Amino acid sequence: MLSVVRAGASDADRDGRFPTPAVDATRKAGLFSAAIPVEFGGRGASLADLARIASTLARACGATGMIWSMHAVQVACISRHHGGVPRLVELLEKLALGQQLVASVTSEQGVGGNLRSSRACVEVAGDAGHVEKAATVVSYGAEAGAYLITARRNPQSLPSDQVAVLALRDQVTLEQLSPWNPMGMRGTCSPGFRVQASFDEAQILPVAFGEIAEATMVPLSHLLWSAVWIGLATESFERSRRFLRQRGRGNGSAPPVERRLAEADRLLAGLEAQLADTILRYAPIYAGERKPTNNLLIRVNALKLAASTDTVRIAELALETCGMAGYQEDGAYSVSRLLRDLYSARLMIANDRILDTNAAGLLIAKRK
Ligand SMILES: Cc1cc2nc3c(=O)[nH]c(=O)nc-3n(C[C@H](O)[C@H](O)[C@H](O)COP(=O)(O)OP(=O)(O)OC[C@H]3O[C@@H](n4cnc5c(N)ncnc54)[C@H](O)[C@@H]3O)c2cc1C
Repeated sequence: MLSVVRAGASDADRDGRFPTPAVDATRKAGLFSAAIPVEFGGRGASLADLARIASTLARACGATGMIWSMHAVQVACISRHHGGVPRLVELLEKLALGQQLVASVTSEQGVGGNLRSSRACVEVAGDAGHVEKAATVVSYGAEAGAYLITARRNPQSLPSDQVAVLALRDQVTLEQLSPWNPMGMRGTCSPGFRVQASFDEAQILPVAFGEIAEATMVPLSHLLWSAVWIGLATESFERSRRFLRQRGRGNGSAPPVERRLAEADRLLAGLEAQLADTILRYAPIYAGERKPTNNLLIRVNALKLAASTDTVRIAELALETCGMAGYQEDGAYSVSRLLRDLYSARLMIANDRILDTNAAGLLIAKRK
């Protein structure tokens, strides 16, 4: 499977094209149900296993790793917050069986990257619901089998009084609102869409979206996205190590070139340890044994801040090590795509927003 994912990475990047062969191979391997519990037909993978899958896929193709991770977060949200509603359980089982991709529709015109605010609202007549949302970024929006859409609970609700709706592809019409020609993560195919969905009222998740965000969407996103970025950084590190090994010693290069490898390894080891620590802290909450805390949110946010910036530094060190071979788009020592992909990390929920959240949280929390 990984050889298929790896083989398609450059084409998806160059053409800004959805990595269909890689996604098909991932589907065939049953990985799109990894985050769905066994009782609903999924694999019930542990957090550590989910992070490993994210990193491994990303080493082969950053876009495929990110698509898989975003999907895993959506199905985990449904798995953990369906509240036993029969319609939601039925759809979850169908998603597990069909290995269909679930896209995230949280972004919205006029809201920026503030996950906890919506303009769009759900309107219910009888037992039928409807929502219309102008989303600014919807990864694999045109390719998904289902959508998890956030919106205000009803037309009178405040922007923060949100729910999440699971809508199937045949319940949704999409109108693409913006082109897609970004710097990196090009294979995620994430333009803006006007999303109009008509669905059974029972497809509205029964708990407030704030609770879903706090217990699942935010911690798991930051954990799996970080695993993706660490995978990309690991790949750039390995390419620079291979470059130095093949070049051999004694060719006149100054020691600082090799020192970069040690510096990158130091940064990578720190991120790996932070990821492992965050998994340990989040595991009892993910298992439903404990409620999320302010301290957990601070830690998952800190992981996201570190992974989204230090991985860029690691890829930069690889670029400086490989020189022009690293600067090329092709070849065994190219780190160009990896670096471009990694620059998206600080924007996927702007780091400024996360720094402000943590600063506010740290003023009231005891540091644990
Ligand atoms: C590859 C990729 C895939 C994505 N996929 C999806 C997806 O599938 N679904 C989805 O819903 N979203 C997705 N997103 C969107 C993403 O998570 C953010 O919502 C989006 O990038 C935010 O857009 P923005 O940077 O224009 O807006 P903002 O977050 O508003 O940021 C704009 C600027 O304002 C600053 N800023 C704004 N508000 C504050 C504040 N309160 N405090 C401090 N600074 C602030 C920011 O630092 C930044 O400089 C994706 C993003 C990327 C990069």
